[in-house]
This record gives sequence, C-alpha cells and structure tokens, in this order.
Amino acid sequence: MPKFKLEYIWLDGYTPVPNLRSKTQIKEFESFPTLEQLPNWGFDGSSTQQAEGRSSDCVLKPVAVYPDSTRVNGALVMCEVMMPDGVTPHPSNTRATILDDVGTWFGFEQEYFLYENGKPLGFPKEGYPAPQGEYYTGVGFKNVGDVARQIVEEHLDLCLDAGINHEGINAEVAKGQWEFQIFGKGSKRAADEIWVARYILLRLCESYGLDVEFHCKPVKGDWNGSGMHCNFSTEYMRETGGKEYFEKLMAAFDKNRDEHIAVYGPDNHLRLTGLHETQSIDKFSYGVADRGASIRIPHSFVNNGYKGYLEDRRPNSQGDPYAIAGRVLKTISEVPTA
Ligand code: ADP
Ligand code: MN
Ligand code: MN
Ligand code: MN
Repeated sequence: MPKFKLEYIWLDGYTPVPNLRSKTQIKEFESFPTLEQLPNWGFDGSSTQQAEGRSSDCVLKPVAVYPDSTRVNGALVMCEVMMPDGVTPHPSNTRATILDDVGTWFGFEQEYFLYENGKPLGFPKEGYPAPQGEYYTGVGFKNVGDVARQIVEEHLDLCLDAGINHEGINAEVAKGQWEFQIFGKGSKRAADEIWVARYILLRLCESYGLDVEFHCKPVKGDWNGSGMHCNFSTEYMRETGGKEYFEKLMAAFDKNRDEHIAVYGPDNHLRLTGLHETQSIDKFSYGVADRGASIRIPHSFVNNGYKGYLEDRRPNSQGDPYAIAGRVLKTISEVPTA
C-alpha cells in the first residue's frame, strides 16, 4: 500500500490573528484518503497558546482534505482544534460554532503584500518607489518586478491541483501587493479554502526567501491597505430577491455594524478611513457600483431586479474567513424572506 504524507493544518491560539501551524504524519492507504479515513491526531497546545503546560494535549479533527502536488502522495488536511475529549471545540475553534448553509455562496478577494527584508517586494532599500498609479493590474518589470508573477502563478497551480476554487489573480494598487479570489458554496467550505490557500502561499514563499504580509495597512502614507472583500449570495437573493427584501437586509447590516466590524479583522480603522475606495469604519453605506461604500451593489444586481450577490468591502486581509462568513450568515438569518 502506498504511504501518504498527511500535512495536518490548524489555527493556533494567538490573538487577534491566529497563525497557521502544520505537521506531517505518514499513513498507508490504498488510494488518496477520504476525510472519513483520516484519524484524529494531537499536538502540544502549550506551544501554540492553546493549553497550559500541565495538561497540554489538544486534538486535531480533520474537516477537509486536499491533494498536495508539491509532494509524492501528499495531502493537505485542514483540521479543527478540539479539547482533549475530542468532541468539545477548543475556544480558538471558530469554525465549529458558525452558521453554515451550502445554498449561500461566498467569494473572497484576498489581498496581501509580498515582503522582502521587512518591506514590500520591489521597494528600494531607502525611500519609496514610484507612487501608486500603474501597479494595479500592471505589467512590466518596473511595475511588478521579476519574481512576483512566478509566485502568484505557482500559487494558482498549487491551489487548482488541490481542488481549491481559486478564481483569479490581479496585481493590486500598491507596489508588491497582489490579490487572489476564492469562491465556495457554504461558509465553511469557502473559508477552509481561503485558509488552505493562505497556507499554500506562505509555504511557497519560503523557498523564495519572502514573507507574506497580511496586515491590513502595512505601509503608512499614501499606499493602499489590504482587504478581503466578501461577496455573498443566498439562494433567496439569487432566485427571489427584490428591492424590499434588499432594503430590509441592508437595515440589518446597518444595525449590526459593530458586530460585523468586530470580526472583520484587526486594525481595520487604519484601512477604513473613507479614502482609498473604502467607507469610514464608523459609517455604514451601500451603493450601486460604489467602491467607497461599505457594501457595493453590482450593476447586475439592480438590472436583474435586485437579485444576485452583494460585496461587503469591509473585511480585511487578516480577518478570519470563518468568523466573517459566519457573521454575514447570522445577519442574513435575522431577516425574514417571506
Ligand atoms: P472586484 O475586484 O471588482 O470587486 P473580483 O472579480 O475580484 O471583483 O471578485 C468578485 C468576487 O465575487 C469573486 O470572488 C467571485 O467568486 C464572487 N462572486 C461572483 N458571483 C457570486 C455569487 N453569486 N455569490 C457569491 N460570490 C460571487
Ligand atoms: Mn477584486
Ligand atoms: Mn482588490
Ligand atoms: Mn472587490
């Protein structure tokens, strides 16, 4: 029987932003293992801020498995962290407690910076590169440098090999800043794929001697911050919708503004300033094709009779996609559809 290299991946207990952690175990299977075939495993929670030293074992419960084309017989195993009893979710385990619904579709736009020696890739040793303007969707060495495109292309292929719904790439507004998009049906599926895509990117960048900076405003001054716009649509929004329902939905988003901001990523006040295509953190607004609104309504939504998907532009690049998607679903669930 072939021996498979199983990379168990989980989120640690650091706040406000958990780190990705992983370790390998080798197991024999007839063929690529299904989720049901993958056993629970353990780790030392005292080294990840998830347990005290005296009783430190936490449990890893596999929740999704993806082919890992960087290894012969490799698998990436996304896990939830459980208490030692194996059934109680650890307090750091947001995935276990969020709402989920496969009829609700999420499209996340993950922005990030590639970083070299503590600066965005392509920044000179001293001072700054040419100001923002030509970098967004840019081409040519002066705009994107010599290695970034190779990295984002390799990342795309690794995600596609893994079966992740990677949907696209673009160079972003700041030098060294990029975006990829992931689409998934259900909050857990979409968020699992964002976390695993982040993992794949971090691991890929090791071999280039680069870091991935996910902070939402790493460069002060007139340089764009990083978001993770959350596009969403329920079955009802896609198939029935209507202006009246839409306005009730927006009223619920307005009412829950603080609850949304609380899980939309740390330091978001540095990014949601009202400048650079964002609404201020303390305001809620929506508008057709309005990139300065909290929620952007695509033209197609209005043209189809207020049916389709909406874009919440507030979540940031460091946000936990489980908590973000779960919060969006919670607000939606408060609005009657009849
Ligand atoms: P922009 O940069 O103009 O905001 P992108 O093309 O980067 O737009 O991202 C659009 C996102 O919308 C993608 O992640 C895509 O998966 C998502 N999306 C498209 N249709 C739907 C839908 N019906 N429900 C949820 N998300 C959707
Ligand atoms: Mn985008
Ligand atoms: Mn973008
Ligand atoms: Mn967007």
